[in-house]
Order: sequence, then structure tokens, then C-alpha cells
Amino acid sequence: MSRCIAGQRTRGREKDIFKYVFGPVRSGRLGLSLGLDLLGARICSFDCLYCEVGATDALTLAQKPYVPAKRLLGELSAFAASMPPAFDVVTLGGLGEPCLNTDMDLIITGCREIFPGVPVAVLTNSSLLSQAAVRRRLALADIVLPSMDTLVPGEFAALNRPHPDLSLSAIRQGLLDFRSEYSGRLCLEILLVGGINDTAENLDALTDFCRELRPDRVDVVTMTRPGAYATAQAAPPDTLARFRAVLGAAVSGGDMGHGPAALRSRVATAALAGAPSRPAADPEETMARVAASLGRRPQTVKQLSVALGLPEDDISRAVTTLVHEKKIQARAELDHVFYQG
Ligand code: SF4
Repeated sequence: MSRCIAGQRTRGREKDIFKYVFGPVRSGRLGLSLGLDLLGARICSFDCLYCEVGATDALTLAQKPYVPAKRLLGELSAFAASMPPAFDVVTLGGLGEPCLNTDMDLIITGCREIFPGVPVAVLTNSSLLSQAAVRRRLALADIVLPSMDTLVPGEFAALNRPHPDLSLSAIRQGLLDFRSEYSGRLCLEILLVGGINDTAENLDALTDFCRELRPDRVDVVTMTRPGAYATAQAAPPDTLARFRAVLGAAVSGGDMGHGPAALRSRVATAALAGAPSRPAADPEETMARVAASLGRRPQTVKQLSVALGLPEDDISRAVTTLVHEKKIQARAELDHVFYQG
């Protein structure tokens, strides 16, 4: 999902060790986020037009331990022993829908044991929340960030391209059921794509839904990076502003955000405080981090700078070298130059 975890899979010389742990990277909604990939491949119940990790390779509803808890937590323990930098939150996501991984409950519990006091967040496309077992596993998280881009069936089919056995009304009800059972923080995300789900009909339906759901926060966003399919384009700024204003009023009492500040203020910061900081990256390490991050999704120099916490000049030098060595490519899209692994 665009909402899928950003950033690099590894850092420098650790790139061959950490396959499922990546970051920490700066996330728009969560602050400094350490990402865990629960899928290991592009496995999802949706095939969204705007997906930043590319087209879904396996469109499925099959649930299993795609990345087993033992394997992932073993890697996380090794990461914890590697003098990692501080971060705000551990975020479960990856290259697809993390709720497809039936070991999610064990993974959440294990994260707490390895990093006590650090909140655990989960990104989900909401598609499996009609299942009680999925809701039970997900409810162990401190923060859940479900997405619901549209409640108009035709828009849902065109934009999210769901597995054929999924029903939009069941997903809607599943999210409401989860809200009634869950005591943690629920932050809804709505991604608008120009000419598809930025309609008055969708805004009306989402307004009713937000009143019923009562999320702690709603984020209305659009594409800032190239999607899996060229037909997906960013929604215009005035449309975003209209959705934010109307939905903000619908959830008054919660937050209406499109940046990290409101949520970060509530996210416990850096349970790793006191952990020694890593020394400043040298050019080789910067190049390795940039290349790894671009292997996950296309980014501009500025986006890389924010995600990796490195100066834009250092990033520019690294991408110039990587382009020269033909390890990455540059392409102009959405009025910016994006680099891609
Ligand atoms: S739900 Fe799946 S296809 Fe859609 S953006 Fe997320 S990972 Fe990509």
C-alpha cells in the first residue's frame, strides 16, 4: 500500500543479514518507524492502482505464516543487538497485507519483548477485518492504521482491484466491528486518486462512515510517488482540502491530520533512548542505504533525505553515483524526478 512501510530494508553492511527488518525511516504518520515485512513478497488481497511497491504478484486471501514469527523475531533480536538508532514505533506491514500472516499475534508479542515500551503499529487495508480471528490478532497492536479509500463499489473495484471474493460491505462492517472491540488507537487513512474516488458520492459515504466509526484520527492523502499503474494520478489540492474539511468535521473530537505531528505527539518516543547512536554514515554506507531504500519504492532526493535522515547533498551524490553505475534509474513523474532500484 502507499500506506505500506516506507524506506530501506537494511543499513549498510547489514544488508545481507536483515531481510524482513528495515529502517528506521521517517514515516509521515508515525515518526521514526522501524519496519517489519510480514510477507517477504508482493502478496496482497488488493492490487491497488497507486501501490508504491508495484503490482501485486499474488492476489490472495490465503492466510498463513508467510514470514514465520520465529524467523522474523530472530532477525529482530539480531537487529536489537546491532546498536540500532532510536526510533518511535515498530510498524508491521511489508510488501502486501500483513493481516494475511497468521503469526501476527506472536510477532506483536515478540516485538514487545525485544523492545519493551515501544508501541507496535499495524498498517492494514482492512480487507480481512470481517474475520473474528484476524480482528483478535490485530487488536494486540497499540496503533492500527486501517485504510478505506472509497465506499462506492465501482470505485473500489477500479481503484483497489480486490480479490474477487471480497465484499466492500463486509469490509465496512468488519472495520466497525473492530472499532467496537479495540481499545487502542485507530487512525483511518483515505487515499484519493484523481478522477476515481475523489467524488461527491464517495465523500458523502465516507462522511457517514467516519461518524459511525469514530476513529481517533483521519488522514486524507494522495499519491506522492509513482504508483503500480500509470493510470493513477494525484488528486488536486482543492479536492484534498474539501475532503479534509468535511471529514474533519465528521470526526470532531479526533484528529484530522495529514502530517506526523498530531500522532507523534501521542506516540511514546524512543524506548531505545539511551541506546548508543550510530556514527554518521560514510559515502559507502549512504549509497547502500539509498540503494536498499529505492529497492522498496521510488523516491525523490527530498523523500530519501527525510526517510533516511541524511542531508540532501549526500543523497544527491549517492544517487548520481548509483545512476552512473546503472544500479538505479531516474524517471520524471508527478512533476518530480524519482529514482528507482
Ligand atoms: S493494499 Fe496491497 S496493493 Fe494496495 S497499496 Fe497496500 S500493498 Fe499495495
